Amino acid sequence: MQEIDNLVAVLSRLPGFGPRSAKRIVLQLLKKQDILMTPLIDALKSAKNNVCDCEVCGNIDTKSPCDICNNLKRDKTTICVVENVADLWAMERTGTYKGKFHILGGVLSPIDGITPKHLNIDGIVSRIEQDGISEIILATNLTVEGQSTAHYLAEVLRPYDVKITRLANGVPVGGELDYLDDGTLAVALQARQIIE
Ligand SMILES: [Zn+2]
Repeated sequence: MQEIDNLVAVLSRLPGFGPRSAKRIVLQLLKKQDILMTPLIDALKSAKNNVCDCEVCGNIDTKSPCDICNNLKRDKTTICVVENVADLWAMERTGTYKGKFHILGGVLSPIDGITPKHLNIDGIVSRIEQDGISEIILATNLTVEGQSTAHYLAEVLRPYDVKITRLANGVPVGGELDYLDDGTLAVALQARQIIE
């Protein structure tokens, strides 16, 4: 059936979903239209119509600047640079970080053709120049790409009068922030080290 095939094909493109799990979900949606399918349609529509990118940090919110950028209680002199919104959420889950964020939008990856111009690096530089930033925490994942991106950023930011730090040991090598338990990430943040 065309309708079901289409739905399965779209769902299969989501991360973590294969055709089999997509089919199971489609069956559930069809079986429970009132409690699953209709609320899902409404939630998707609302997200599509209302969620936007924050023009300052790249976070997603229903307004720009986002809640974190607008929050006067947060330390605006410290910026934590993360790869994506999921990593921002991981840092927020620790409950210990009180600064602002900057979303790179990925990591350098020559194999995939991702070069510095594909990442939001200019945004970090202009925030340093305009906002009186005193510390940049490079919180890219401890994957090969995440590490080399952090090294690259440290070089780019070296001329500026700003402390550059990296999450401490405790984050396992190859570790992605989103998969770490909150305690490990909180410790790695507190014990962050200055990049010389
Ligand atoms: Zn923001």
